[in-house]
Amino acid sequence: MNSHPGRHTLFTREQIEPAVNRLAVEITQNYRDKNPVLVGILKGGFIFIADLVRYLDFPLEVEFIRLSSYGSGWQTSGRVKVVQGLSRSIKDRHVLVIEDIIDTGITVAFLMDYLKKKRPASLKLCTLLDKPSHRRKPLKIDYHGFTVPDKFLVGYGLDYDEQYRNLPDICYLEE
Ligand code: 5GP
Ligand code: MG
Repeated sequence: MNSHPGRHTLFTREQIEPAVNRLAVEITQNYRDKNPVLVGILKGGFIFIADLVRYLDFPLEVEFIRLSSYGSGWQTSGRVKVVQGLSRSIKDRHVLVIEDIIDTGITVAFLMDYLKKKRPASLKLCTLLDKPSHRRKPLKIDYHGFTVPDKFLVGYGLDYDEQYRNLPDICYLEE
């Protein structure tokens, strides 16, 4: 990609906030007495989980996992690796994975298998953005914010070549 792509807003911060709040209400109904472990996926999920947990007014723990998935460009490599794992055991704990965006599903399907082997009491999935058009792994998404079109999104944690994570809005790039 040589030319600098144009940036267009898909969801403004004013649209994102009530969506995060609604997810928090649903999560609270199911987890308020469970002291769950929320597992955020780095780096893209860092802003979503930070916003989400501030709406969750009950005991919980936060963990982060870092996976390699997309390289530095636009395409998924199809291979996933755990670059940084959990710092504590999740055995017999209620685990909720917090993902930024699910595209093919390969990344999250890998992660759910990886976490299931650690024998949590329950394991569920929350994603802010669901891009179903290229789904290659069937997935049950327990909590989701927005269904999004087949565009390359940046902002609110999501990057293009490590840039744009700091945009408060969710945007798409197009030439
Ligand atoms: P999947 O394995 O589901 O195809 O891809 C999931 C991962 O790819 C996401 O966690 C995210 O890191 C990256 N990804 C998928 N779609 C997009 C997108 O539109 N924009 C950005 N920045 N990353 C994406
Ligand atoms: Mg990601």
